[in-house]
Amino acid sequence: MLSWFTGDARGYGTWLAGHPDEFVVLIDRVARLADIPTDAAGRPHLAVAVRTHRVLHRASGAEVAGPTADHLRICGPHDELVASFEGEDLPRCDRCLRVDPTA
Ligand SMILES: [Zn+2]
Repeated sequence: MLSWFTGDARGYGTWLAGHPDEFVVLIDRVARLADIPTDAAGRPHLAVAVRTHRVLHRASGAEVAGPTADHLRICGPHDELVASFEGEDLPRCDRCLRVDPTA
């Protein structure tokens, strides 16, 4: 089952404690339209913004241990997380996921 947490949601710490072997996708929250890259005509590149700012981590990784007000976190089993992105590229953290978790 996937769980979603935004900002400094308290339930996240409880989830981490209960699912040390699962995974977390960190997605930068684009809070302001001005933060989204635009094309020459000034139209926002939404796909680019989403694609560029998400990273898959192990739940045990240091990068996802602390509170962060600036990210959306999607948490759950590896295969279910990957499937939820329906084939879209899901970059892996080069620190906690140097080794393929499914290998
Ligand atoms: Zn990581």
